[in-house]
Amino acid sequence: MFEWSEEQQAVRSAVRRFVEAEIAPRVDELEHGDVPPYDVIRSLYRTFGMDQLARDRFERTLAQRRAVEASGASAQPSGDGDGDGDGDGDGGSGGDGDGGSGGHGVRRGDGGAAALTLVPIVELCRYCPGIVTAMGVSIGLAAGTIMRRGTADQMERWGRDLVTFDTVGAWAITEPNSGSDALGGMQATARVKGDGYVLNGNKTFITNGPFADTIVFYAKLDDGSDTPMRSRPVLTFVLDRGMPGLEQSAPFRKMGLHSSPTGELFLSDVEVGPDRLLGSAGQAASGEGRQSAKDNFVTERAGVAAMALGVIEQCLSLSVAYAKDRMLWGKAIADFQLIQLKLARMEVARLNVENLVFRHIEMEAAGRSLSLAEASAMKLYSAQAATEVAMEAVQLMGGNGYMADYRVEQLARDAKVFQIYAGTDEIQVTHIARDLLAR
Ligand SMILES: Cc1cc2nc3c(=O)[nH]c(=O)nc-3n(C[C@H](O)[C@H](O)[C@H](O)COP(=O)(O)OP(=O)(O)OC[C@H]3O[C@@H](n4cnc5c(N)ncnc54)[C@H](O)[C@@H]3O)c2cc1C
Repeated sequence: MFEWSEEQQAVRSAVRRFVEAEIAPRVDELEHGDVPPYDVIRSLYRTFGMDQLARDRFERTLAQRRAVEASGASAQPSGDGDGDGDGDGDGGSGGDGDGGSGGHGVRRGDGGAAALTLVPIVELCRYCPGIVTAMGVSIGLAAGTIMRRGTADQMERWGRDLVTFDTVGAWAITEPNSGSDALGGMQATARVKGDGYVLNGNKTFITNGPFADTIVFYAKLDDGSDTPMRSRPVLTFVLDRGMPGLEQSAPFRKMGLHSSPTGELFLSDVEVGPDRLLGSAGQAASGEGRQSAKDNFVTERAGVAAMALGVIEQCLSLSVAYAKDRMLWGKAIADFQLIQLKLARMEVARLNVENLVFRHIEMEAAGRSLSLAEASAMKLYSAQAATEVAMEAVQLMGGNGYMADYRVEQLARDAKVFQIYAGTDEIQVTHIARDLLAR
């Protein structure tokens, strides 16, 4: 694959029309944090029938899950709790989470689905990477985890409304004292009480945290044993807004990504029954969730590359137009070689990131998945490229570039987070190096 297919281009055009009509005129309201992004996302879902598609897919998945449960086989694939200790589960999250499709994860062997998931991400990120983050975390991470690991009853209870975006989801793993050491350093606890648990702990930097109706919450098992905290099993729970003992903070003020609300969660003796536990305690204890956690990272990192592509494309096209238009010393600044160098470097970045996205789509079509190291390399390069391109676009426009009306300053602030969430640059490096050194 070296270019988007006709079908993909048609989807791109349709999404671009929607974005230019519905989002571009409201970017300021969304970016100043006056308006949460959820109604815009719902409008996107309705306009493209993504809600109905998600509903149909949900019903099929639910029927399959019920059939499996009726047959007595294990209904739950592996969980993503991880006893840790080997660093496999590190990296944190909060990025795209593969949320553009209205589904819950790209199915293996389906490059068409991968492309159609990534195309809207690219288009939305030309204006509003925050919307993709809010959408991706809710659909890809919160709904995705419930749909992969939940029982049929849990899917019905929380998954159905999440996949259509009728409700908003959050996915909470990061804590004030963990972050990159997300699973090993986790201090939130799930104390056994009868057949249920009592949850305590704080989570921070949680996308949609302030507004979420449904929260996927990770905590370490506290069963009274003297197992060191680092190596205790990690359990995954589903919480509802308004539960006694659960507090959701107001949105943080932050550098960029203002259309994606980010906040804290405080849990104080939140009592939950076994019906809120995803996967069994036994599965978590056996640590079989390691691979599942890695799968989450791979999908999320590929999604961030698509986000980076949207930012790069927009910055490049705004920069080319500006360079041709801005006259100095009697000629367009496009005539200056130092300006041409900036444009050329932006184009190199665009080609590279686009090719990485194409490679991911092709691999999915071939039924293969990126390894964690490949996904990390893709994310590392794309995140850095988007940040550099956006900053260079600001530079190319001089004082205007620094002004909000010219749009590139927002994209520069937004792009910076690509180097932090879904695993920082430094964590991507460790994942790539670990793979290289294991050969
Ligand atoms: C806007 C936003 C949204 C987010 N959304 C979510 C969300 O929805 N859910 C969620 O759970 N989390 C979310 N996060 C959290 C995100 O995943 C973490 O911020 C990220 O994993 C980094 O953790 P940290 O911020 O604690 O930094 P730290 O882990 O404290 O890192 C500090 C510095 O140390 C470096 N470092 C760490 N370990 C190493 C190492 N081994 N070698 C070299 N350098 C190292 C880091 O790269 C970084 O430069 C979000 C974050 C942001 C900014």
